[in-house]
Amino acid sequence: MQQFASDNQAGLCPEAMAALAVSNATGHEPSYGDDRWTVELQARMRSLFETEACETFLVFNGTAANALALAALCRPFEATLCHAFSHIETDEAAAPEFFTGGAKLMVADTPGGKLTPAAVEGLARRYEGVHHVKARALSLTQSTELGTVYTLDEVRALTAVARAHGLKVHMDGARFANAVATLGCQPADLGWRAGVDVLSFGATKNGLAVGEAVVFFDPSLADAFAWRVKQTGQLASKMRFVAAPWCALIEGDVWLKNARHSNAMARRLAEKLAALQGVRIMHPVEANAVFAEIPVAAQAAVRAKGWRFYTFLGETGCRLMCAWDTTPETVDRFASDLATAAAR
Ligand SMILES: *Cc1c(COP(=O)(O)O)cnc(C)c1O
Repeated sequence: MQQFASDNQAGLCPEAMAALAVSNATGHEPSYGDDRWTVELQARMRSLFETEACETFLVFNGTAANALALAALCRPFEATLCHAFSHIETDEAAAPEFFTGGAKLMVADTPGGKLTPAAVEGLARRYEGVHHVKARALSLTQSTELGTVYTLDEVRALTAVARAHGLKVHMDGARFANAVATLGCQPADLGWRAGVDVLSFGATKNGLAVGEAVVFFDPSLADAFAWRVKQTGQLASKMRFVAAPWCALIEGDVWLKNARHSNAMARRLAEKLAALQGVRIMHPVEANAVFAEIPVAAQAAVRAKGWRFYTFLGETGCRLMCAWDTTPETVDRFASDLATAAAR
């Protein structure tokens, strides 16, 4: 049964599944990334991001992508500025702190999961001197943990503040695809052209089984990154099975098709929920997440019918995630079950 608990509860999209079979059919292939699909992926990323200054590394998951990217930026006494709801702060069991060897996360709790230039400025200026951590990086999540999307102007304004303070910019793009689909921009516009130095480019939630890309737009920052990947146990020996499905996502813009679909399902869900008595949409629905206040009793009633989703903010703030394969029928059935529950 389709659920709204997370976009990673969905399976592989058919294009990824087919690519897996194709990359298996040839029998033996070079390992550790020397296979043709990993080589092809490097070229595809350069062309997708319209630059030769683009180094791509594959790791197993988003936590590793973020933590290793930040480890490439920060020394142990430095700090990354991020949102209080950011995945690196709330959902990675201190992996960023661990892999940087101690670099601190400094958070701001601004509305809608979006940092503001003033908040970043404040964090960047907070400490000075040897007794404190030294601000070194800004990490932005796009789309955000609350289902909102930074506009291109907002990203540019934030990275300008970062630059002014000598900070490098990391983007947690576990749902980068959803943001690009919403903004209708080129991926490069939201990447290096907007001032991003390194991107954790997610694909798992977009329809792969496994494998996130760490994309460096400043190759000097990628120095010896391959060793970080290996040392942390993130180097897949049968890399082709990660790279081939990745190539299939990029080919023909399947990644955007998947993101557009999950975004559209979230909009459909939000429209239906907004019409219900006692239910309130909490944040603008700009990607594939719907945050809705649902009375506790109504939550219990739909859960009793088998629906699964997380209560994320307090007792009533629910997070409903749509995936690449969420059907309109699933959305409508949930909305109808909730309508019955909310009317009681
Ligand atoms: C899912 C997610 C990740 C990656 O999580 P893993 O479970 O480690 O793959 C990173 N950032 C955000 C914002 C996410 O939602």
